Amino acid sequence: MGYQKPKGTNDIYTGEVEKWQYVESVARDIFKRYDFHELRTPMFEHLEVISRGVGGTTDIVTKEMYDFHDKGDRHITLRPEGTAPLVRAYVEHKFFGPEHKNPFKTFYIGPMFRYERPQSGRLRQFHQIGIEAIGSSNPATDVEGILVALDFYKALGVKHTKLVINSLGNVASRKKYRQALIDYLEPHFDELSGDSQRRLHENPLRVLDSKDEKDQKYVVNAPSILDYLDEESHAFFEEVKALLDALDVEYVIDHRMVRGLDYYNHTVFELMSNAPGFNGAITTICAGGRYDGLVTELGGPESHDTGFGFALGIERAIITMEAEGIEFPKAPALDVYVINLGEGTSTEALKLVQSARNAGLIADRDFLNRKVKAQFKSANKEDAKIVLVLGEDELKNNEVVVKNMATGSEEKVALHDIHSNFADIFSKQLEA
Ligand code: ATP
Ligand code: MG
Repeated sequence: MGYQKPKGTNDIYTGEVEKWQYVESVARDIFKRYDFHELRTPMFEHLEVISRGVGGTTDIVTKEMYDFHDKGDRHITLRPEGTAPLVRAYVEHKFFGPEHKNPFKTFYIGPMFRYERPQSGRLRQFHQIGIEAIGSSNPATDVEGILVALDFYKALGVKHTKLVINSLGNVASRKKYRQALIDYLEPHFDELSGDSQRRLHENPLRVLDSKDEKDQKYVVNAPSILDYLDEESHAFFEEVKALLDALDVEYVIDHRMVRGLDYYNHTVFELMSNAPGFNGAITTICAGGRYDGLVTELGGPESHDTGFGFALGIERAIITMEAEGIEFPKAPALDVYVINLGEGTSTEALKLVQSARNAGLIADRDFLNRKVKAQFKSANKEDAKIVLVLGEDELKNNEVVVKNMATGSEEKVALHDIHSNFADIFSKQLEA
């Protein structure tokens, strides 16, 4: 008996990994057009970066951290999300300086780690694609970020999406709302879920995010944060909406939508999917918002203490495409397979696949000295477009049989010609 992968993790291999490569390449292509540049941060961080960044009362920090003390007794955690690490890097490398792009527009693609109860679309090592635009307080930055997410899913062919937005306002607005929410929920304290009882005074907005039925009953009639926005917060949200309208972007407002991370303020958004394959279930396929205050929280300058970003799970993006019946591009087939049979042919076979590869073709050969039938079977399995057959006789005559697998036609070609001109011979064969 061998070993098994840790619970909540996946091995991603042929058949599946091509989907990942495709989704990632579409993301890179979209980010390039929006002038977002990649930033790769370490897989682990000082725990404090995350607890200060994400917020000490969030589930991510209180329950889901993969943290440990290293041999130098540093308190380390595998990163559970991408924003705090990127803002840490932004501050550490002074990307707010005049030689850098401002706002600093950056993206990441990579694994995140959360100790959760694994289920479909919920893993302990999962993968996110995300963007951050740091240093702009312009609502156009929020809208640009939302457009990136919409364009990404559009490029993947995902159609059944809904954009949901809300505003959490500035600190002053949220403080007032927080109190209103406590006043509203407190009389029902005994009927709330255990989690919500705990959160009521720690972070009452989190109660709105509860999926527990006990809480849902009260959440439905909770006061709306939108009624507590002060003038500045209200104006900001109006501007975001006006910009979305100006770009003909459809959205709905859900005043109960808060996000699971403490750093958000003003605009928050989610893209929801009701793809046919989800059978009526609604899934969040992208989430983000504005996080003014995070830069100074992590030691950066007040002059650049603004930002907007989102993250989306690659696993969920793929599940969503599947639920919409979208076809993924297939891995390219072999161009050339070299069958080699008998004494001395292995060396020449190696030279032949190398010539094919040097000509930019995808090529492979038999390595196991199998019978001709088995070698043809391998060539077929990989959909090889042409097969070269090299036996002892061919080798003696310095030639090789070139077979077009689609038509079955065969032709003898001198080894010298094929080595010096593989690309031409290949394309002529395919035309024939
Ligand atoms: P949820 O409410 O589903 O727990 P969240 O608020 O914790 O989501 P974020 O931290 O905002 O999620 O992460 C953004 C996206 O990352 C989610 O919309 C989802 O697609 C993905 N994601 C989050 N946690 C996981 C996980 N454990 N496994 C797979 N994907 C995840
Ligand atoms: Mg979560």
